[in-house]
Amino acid sequence: MENDENIKLYCFGSGSSGNCYYLKKGKSGIIIDIGISHRKLKKFFSDYGLAMADIRGILVSHSHTDHVRAVGAFSSAMRIPVYTTQQVHEGMERNFLMTKKILKDDKIIVNYHSKFQIGDTGIIAFPVPHDSNGNNGYLLKFGDETLCFLTDVGAVTQEIIQYVSQAEYLILEANYDREMLQNGPYSDFLKRRIQSGSGHLCNELAGQLIAKHSSSKIRKIWFCHLSEENNHPDLVVKTIKEIIANSGRKELIEVPLIPLKRTTPQCFEL
Ligand SMILES: [Zn+2]
Ligand SMILES: [Zn+2]
Repeated sequence: MENDENIKLYCFGSGSSGNCYYLKKGKSGIIIDIGISHRKLKKFFSDYGLAMADIRGILVSHSHTDHVRAVGAFSSAMRIPVYTTQQVHEGMERNFLMTKKILKDDKIIVNYHSKFQIGDTGIIAFPVPHDSNGNNGYLLKFGDETLCFLTDVGAVTQEIIQYVSQAEYLILEANYDREMLQNGPYSDFLKRRIQSGSGHLCNELAGQLIAKHSSSKIRKIWFCHLSEENNHPDLVVKTIKEIIANSGRKELIEVPLIPLKRTTPQCFEL
């Protein structure tokens, strides 16, 4: 039987065609990024029988369009506050592909490393290197359970390690396979951009981060923002399983590794 007190994760899109995640415990829901259309988000809520009234806030990672397309439209229509750093709010102001802007009263500014609350959830933001006007990872505490969210990760920093190592649940970018990117259709310029310290995270580095720094209490890992051209869900799991096996951390071998689908909505119970 479904228990409404369990935390649920909905993925409504993951990757360059639009990112949107919804985390819900009881009647306390948080959206992370809205890079899909307002119409799609409403449809997915209705398909899953979710109540808009449960949404307590929207968290934004960074101002690239695949993460913010409908943040303003949705927030202003529903009057839901948007939480992110000053820098990311400024980035959204300047993003002209984000057609509707966030209303002044709905803009909430958060600071790195200091805890804030959305509904029943305690949250801490931390910086993640990427070629945008700021990019944030988030550590979310639902009672005793901690989830770490990080996407569009150009490089793994000490701060990232510090937060990843606290999480029982992890949503982590696994954007590309090095060989597929190298031999793939992208221009040299784009290949360099993706692989740079302010680009995206490859399967190998995602695997090393998990093998070296994840908590021994980690229970489930989802991989987000997979590239359509330069990665494959099976390859993500294979590469990361190998790295974990070679690391000798036996407690990680049984941890479910789940690549998120790019456009098909999915729901998971934590
Ligand atoms: Zn980005
Ligand atoms: Zn992105």
